[in-house]
Amino acid sequence: MEQLLELYQTMGVSPAVYAFGQAALDRLKDRFAAIDQVAEYNQAKVLWAMQKNKVSAACFAATTGYGYDDLGRDNLERVYADVFHTEAALVRPQITCGTHALTVALSANLLPGDELLSPVGLPYDTLQEVIGIRESTCSLAEYGVSYRQVDLLEGGGFDYEGIKKAINEKTKLITIQRSKGYATRPTFSVSQIGELIAFCKSVKPDVLVMVDNCYGEFVETMEPSDVGADMTVGSLIKNPGGGLAPIGGYICGTKKCVDRCAYRLSAPGLGQEVGANLGLMPALYQGFFLAPTVVAAAEKGAIFAANLYEPLGFPCIPNAAESRHDIIQAVELGSEEGMIAFCKGIQAAAPVDSFATPWPSDMPGYEDRVIMAAGAFVQGSSIELSADGPIRPPYAVYFQGGLTWPHAKLGILLSLQKMVDAGLVRL
Ligand SMILES: *Cc1c(COP(=O)(O)O)cnc(C)c1O
Repeated sequence: MEQLLELYQTMGVSPAVYAFGQAALDRLKDRFAAIDQVAEYNQAKVLWAMQKNKVSAACFAATTGYGYDDLGRDNLERVYADVFHTEAALVRPQITCGTHALTVALSANLLPGDELLSPVGLPYDTLQEVIGIRESTCSLAEYGVSYRQVDLLEGGGFDYEGIKKAINEKTKLITIQRSKGYATRPTFSVSQIGELIAFCKSVKPDVLVMVDNCYGEFVETMEPSDVGADMTVGSLIKNPGGGLAPIGGYICGTKKCVDRCAYRLSAPGLGQEVGANLGLMPALYQGFFLAPTVVAAAEKGAIFAANLYEPLGFPCIPNAAESRHDIIQAVELGSEEGMIAFCKGIQAAAPVDSFATPWPSDMPGYEDRVIMAAGAFVQGSSIELSADGPIRPPYAVYFQGGLTWPHAKLGILLSLQKMVDAGLVRL
C-alpha cells in the first residue's frame, strides 16, 4: 500500500483523494462481487461458444480480395450467433461503426411504404438522420419509409396505450434503444425490453423488432436476443470488441433478417459470401474473449464514479445505488469549470496522449461547444476510458469505459483531484 500511495502521489493523486476513494470502495464490495459473477457467467458463455465452434489458429489467417471461404470470418459469426443465441450473425470489419450497423439492419428490412416505429422516444442522435427525422440525403424517409414515435411516460415507463394505437398495417419494424445514450431517460433492462417486445408482438405478431444494443453487451447475463428481438445490433469499438477490435459492427438475429442485412451490406446475390477479413481476426476473436471482463471493469468504474461524486453533491445518472444496464455514467458538475477539471483528470490518467489538455470547442453537428477527454489506443473507442459532454446546463459529463478496473479507478481519482485543485470540491 505504501508503495502504491507513493506512486499515486508521483502521478498526482493526493493521500486525501485516495483515502476518500477507498472509503467509497469499502461500501461497494457486494456490488462489485455481483458484477464479477455476471462476468464469470458471460466469460463461460463466450468460451463455450469458442470451444463448440472449434476456434483454432487457422481462424486467425488473413484473407484479401473477395474473401471467399473465409474460415475465420465465418466461424466468428457462428461464435457470435451462439453467444447471442441467434440463428445467424453478421460480424464484419466492413461495418464501420454502430450507426452503420443499425443503418444496414434498418434499410435491409424496411421497404418503400413500410413504417418504422420507435416506442421509446427519440432515437440516438446519428439515427435521426438515418431515419430522416432530421432531413438528410439517403435517409429512409427519402426511400419512402415513414416513421412514427411514441414517447416514454413521464416516469420513464412505456406508454402501452399509445404504442398499441401507433402500431398499424404499415408498421413493419420496431426499433428499441437499450441505452439512454445522451438522453436523460433511464436505460432499459433486458427484461423490460422483453416485456415491450412481447407486448408489440401481441398487437402485431409478424412485426420485426430491432434492438440498438450499444453499450449494453455483457452488462447482464441475457441479451435482447434472449427475449425476442429479431435483430440485436452494436459496435465493436464499444463493449463486444473488448478494446482490441480496431473497427467493426455486428448484427445477430434470425436467419431471414441477417441474410437481408448481408445482401444490403455487400450486394444482392453476394451477401455473406464476400468480405475479406484483412488480418483483423485475431483482434476480433481475442477482443470478444476479453469483452466480459472489460465490461465488468468499465461498469465498476461507472459505479465508483457515482459513489464518489454523489456524496459530494453532484447529481449522478444512474444514481449511486441504482442497478445498471449499460456502462455510461452521467455526472452533473454544475459548471463549465467542473467539466474541464473532470475531463483533465481523465485525460491525465490515459496511457495515450496523457500530456494533452482537453478544452471545450465547436464541433460539427453540435449546437453547444463540446469537451472530450480520450487517450485511447483505438481512435474514438468508447470502451476505453473516456468522458465528454456539451457545455450547457446542467453541465453533465458522460463518462464511460476503462479496459481495466485499476485504470478506471485512477482516472476517476485524478478527475476528483483536478476538481479539488481547482477549488470546486472540498473533501
Ligand atoms: C454509440 C451509439 C450509437 C452509434 O454508434 P457509433 O459507433 O458512434 O456510430 C448508436 N446508439 C447508441 C445508443 C450508442 O450509444
